[in-house]
Amino acid sequence: MYLCHLPVPPLPFAPRPFPDELLLSWICRLAAANHVSQPLLFPEMQAMNHYRLNSDPGEEIVARLAAMARVPPSTLHSLLLPNQFPNLPLLSFLRVPDTANISGNKDTASFPLPFCSECAGEEECLQQSLYWRAESGLLTTTLCPRHGAYFDDACPGCNRGQLTLAWDHARLIVRCLRCNWRPVPRQKGCPVPSYPSGLRQLISRLQCDLIAALRGHPPNSFWCGEISAVQFLRVVDDLYWLLRTPGLSAHCGQLFTFTDGFSWTRLRSDSWSFFARISDLPFSAWDRTSRAEMLLAMAAAMLGTRAFEILGNSPHFPAPTAFYPWDWILPSLNRPYAQELLNRAAHWPSRLRFSVSIAAGVAIMPIPLEDYSTI
Ligand SMILES: [Zn+2]
Ligand SMILES: [Zn+2]
Repeated sequence: MYLCHLPVPPLPFAPRPFPDELLLSWICRLAAANHVSQPLLFPEMQAMNHYRLNSDPGEEIVARLAAMARVPPSTLHSLLLPNQFPNLPLLSFLRVPDTANISGNKDTASFPLPFCSECAGEEECLQQSLYWRAESGLLTTTLCPRHGAYFDDACPGCNRGQLTLAWDHARLIVRCLRCNWRPVPRQKGCPVPSYPSGLRQLISRLQCDLIAALRGHPPNSFWCGEISAVQFLRVVDDLYWLLRTPGLSAHCGQLFTFTDGFSWTRLRSDSWSFFARISDLPFSAWDRTSRAEMLLAMAAAMLGTRAFEILGNSPHFPAPTAFYPWDWILPSLNRPYAQELLNRAAHWPSRLRFSVSIAAGVAIMPIPLEDYSTI
């Protein structure tokens, strides 16, 4: 960090962080309050992956930021994702990527935070400072947690990436440099469609329960019945292994992941397969659409045939049975991986374990009598 040995410049204005704020959100407010761009104020952070910045930017950066803004380092530590989400280590794919895999922010010129025009409009109406809550920094958050809208980097007015953050009367605001667009508060009687349907509904519900479980709260029983936060996160982590790892299928080669097999949930219309897009990149380097597709595949695996109703369609081939998707995954797994799946599924809740057992033709683990009522 080439600037860390220089004296820490004092900042004239230093807004206090909100207790549930994302670190990058506070840094953007700090820069805007002092009327400088974030790259100018913190050049060393431009080379840092956003996820790493919000999870663990390192002691030097935290100490430097704390000194610049005259806040205790402990206040900034409390903003870091592992401190806002104590169960974060349970999801292996949300760990900070290895240094070798950390890329800088390719979009240095574009908007630095996930943008929701509904959120910006609400803050505009209330004359409050816009800020991003910690959950918007989780890689599993692909939609606005409050409105279920797709995050965007482009201006809703001119569809170009020239949105900018500015400071106005002690609060952060968003404006477009190109067309002067400003967020518009919704009219009374024209409520925000807060409950999306179909694909977005599933993504929204799953990311919402992941946020709850990462905080230590049990997820909705909708997924797998009544289970604890820890058990839910273990199932999700196992599904990540199953659905993301290439080469598990005995028939489809090394360039296939089981997420590719959920082609009926595809969000993209181009011909790029899921694996062609993600290759061997860590989750933190995937585009937002690919991360959302992974959530959809996980949701469909947990819900089985119940997913068809919500999504409004179902796969054509192979014709799904009552034990979908295990009816096509299990027979196509290479034998060692099938054993690995059975070992993992032994710790899953009864409803999921039952489907896997039937599809595998083996009893993975006795199911307690009282659990049959929930299957
Ligand atoms: Zn929103
Ligand atoms: Zn614009």
